Amino acid sequence: MNEEITKLIDLQAIDSEIDGFDQEIHAMEQEITALEQSIADKENKISLCREESEQLERQQRELKTGMEESFARIKDRQNKMMQVQTSREHQALLKEIEENKKMIKTQEDRILQLIEQVEQLGQDAAELEGLIAEEKELLLGKKEEVKKAVNKINSRKTVVMGKREALAPALQPNTLQRYTMLRERRNGTAVVPTRNGVCQGCFMTIPPQQENEVRKGEKLNFCPTCQRILYYLEEEEAESLDA
Ligand SMILES: [Zn+2]
Repeated sequence: MNEEITKLIDLQAIDSEIDGFDQEIHAMEQEITALEQSIADKENKISLCREESEQLERQQRELKTGMEESFARIKDRQNKMMQVQTSREHQALLKEIEENKKMIKTQEDRILQLIEQVEQLGQDAAELEGLIAEEKELLLGKKEEVKKAVNKINSRKTVVMGKREALAPALQPNTLQRYTMLRERRNGTAVVPTRNGVCQGCFMTIPPQQENEVRKGEKLNFCPTCQRILYYLEEEEAESLDA
């Protein structure tokens, strides 16, 4: 096989390995981001609980003021009862007293409901606080773990980068340029094998004449559909790749 093709295959293998390292690091960083997001969501829910509690407590205070006013009205009507002469006036005052008593009952019931709701919100917030504490601890551990793993990956990456630096200048500049451009446009894969006359990059069939040239490997061949650089993989090698 043409030496340039062999170098390209090696370079692709190296770059794929480097991409793999980057993906591994990214995936681990994503786990941390997800955990941080989960904590932030819970903190947000807690502040919503607090806001709602404050609002309900305001309502409670208003209801209490209302109740005090009702009590005052009852007291006032009771005092008036002693001064009125006619039974009609007496009835009217009694009616007002009854109405205020009903109002107090309603206000009391509503206050009890509000107290329960505020209690529930407090419990919800406390539960969330507990979960946050757990997640924060988990996050600390995770960060430590990721830091170590990233360091390990980075030292492996340094070794592979060294190989790359040795190999890349050995390619002809225009080949390297083409390879680089293809990697950018084709999601990181510029060099692909053919199998049974099919490009393993885009899975389109290659014309038989070109497939023969790819087999010979005397010059660079490009997939007519995706323009990737093609090489021929011996069936045995292909099978071992599948395994
Ligand atoms: Zn293709």
